[in-house]
Amino acid sequence: MIPAMTPQTEQLEQTNREERRAAAEALLPELEDAGVTAVALPWVDTSGITRVKTVPLAKLPSAAAWGVGMSPVFDGFLLDDSIVAGRFAGSAVGDLRLHPDLSRLVVLAGQPGWAWAPVDRFTQAGQPHVQCSRSLLRRQVAALAEAGFTVKAAFEVEWVVARPDGLPDDPDAFVPALSGPAYGMTRLAEVSDYARDLMDALAEQGVVVDQFHPEYAGGQLEVSVGALDPVGAADTALLVRNTITAVSAQHGLRVSFSPKVTADGVGNGGHVHLSLWRDDENLMSGGDGAFGLTADGEAFTAGLLQHLPGLLAVGAPSVASYLRLVPSHWAGAYAAWGLENREAALRFVTGPDGNRQSSANVEVKSFDLAANPYLLMAGCLAVGLAGVRAGSRLPDPVGVDPASLSDEGRREAGIRALPATLAEAVQAFESDEVLAEAFGEELAATVVDVRNGEIALFEGTSPEAVCRAVRWKH
Ligand code: GLU
Ligand code: MG
Repeated sequence: MIPAMTPQTEQLEQTNREERRAAAEALLPELEDAGVTAVALPWVDTSGITRVKTVPLAKLPSAAAWGVGMSPVFDGFLLDDSIVAGRFAGSAVGDLRLHPDLSRLVVLAGQPGWAWAPVDRFTQAGQPHVQCSRSLLRRQVAALAEAGFTVKAAFEVEWVVARPDGLPDDPDAFVPALSGPAYGMTRLAEVSDYARDLMDALAEQGVVVDQFHPEYAGGQLEVSVGALDPVGAADTALLVRNTITAVSAQHGLRVSFSPKVTADGVGNGGHVHLSLWRDDENLMSGGDGAFGLTADGEAFTAGLLQHLPGLLAVGAPSVASYLRLVPSHWAGAYAAWGLENREAALRFVTGPDGNRQSSANVEVKSFDLAANPYLLMAGCLAVGLAGVRAGSRLPDPVGVDPASLSDEGRREAGIRALPATLAEAVQAFESDEVLAEAFGEELAATVVDVRNGEIALFEGTSPEAVCRAVRWKH
């Protein structure tokens, strides 16, 4: 739909500003015909909340060329909209420019009259903002490309649908809008029109849905989408969630993507699928390693496994994440890998014989949807590439639920428990040199400051109260 543009990792000069304006102008007739009144320009803050500014359609060319003003204070926002006084974030002074990526512009099917384009954040001087997570991800993709690799990725989205008004005396209570059994056909029948409208809306927006199903927890559903380039996958994760929220509102439903909606039961995961490629060759398949891994595919996966404790500070970024990340809840609470093992943090997936070359991938189960998908994906690429550079090897795969082993059994199998609290994950992140280098001093410091801010926010709060406070935020 859109002509190729100057990569947004570069300094914006007058010439590419004019290119951007021309690209936006060329889009206007088509968007007018599609009934678009205004364009939403979302980005995700450090705490994982999607924030937005919007412009009327006529202002899209100027937004493309000059961006839309936005305070850098949002780098220091917490999920309750309070602001930490971070080392490099949280100041009310200064301005950034939000530049829509027109190549990802989509007319929203669930919000008539609206289009949507994710943004990169630039300084007034036209440089990528050092704390822009989408720009960071672009840089990681470029680093991989320089080393001769690409990655295909996809986020799975789990959510619960709830009655919009909660309980008469407690509007914020979670009352599931579904009653049928997990994976139940009756549950599907209850949401038949809703699920159809959702799949129609996603298809109209060009999102390739692989599967939709009723999940395990009360009111829980899941959609999985086709693998894309890493920035495309993170954009799509945002778009899918936005679409779910919009279509749910049309059906009078409230949704929660929170890692843990209620203190008991199973949470909402945000599993990430990754495969490493060289040209047209999927390196997760066709090799001499375990289950067909190539040496590079193994090293990438080993990088993920080794750095998973630190990665959790971006992939499981909320205090609520650690209420979800517990053994025997399919959440991947142990740093282990195994073939189709849903209790290992890394579930290796080969796909059926005959289709392995296109479908083999590694699924990181421990992540959830409180995560900023750009930060999380950038972290995954950085540690995967570090693994490849170091020629890292995987330990033996694990074929049982690690929780079923004794402490000694786990020790013998080399299985570590992952951080059990956000504070432990922050500690691991702070001592992870690969992540520190990839994120850069300012962004790494802000991740730590924002996480510590949330830890302080929930100090002494019961699990049920944490779930309640986080439930409707993401
Ligand atoms: N809901 C589970 C989680 O918290 C995952 C269920 C599944 O394996 O799909 O990650
Ligand atoms: Mg699932």
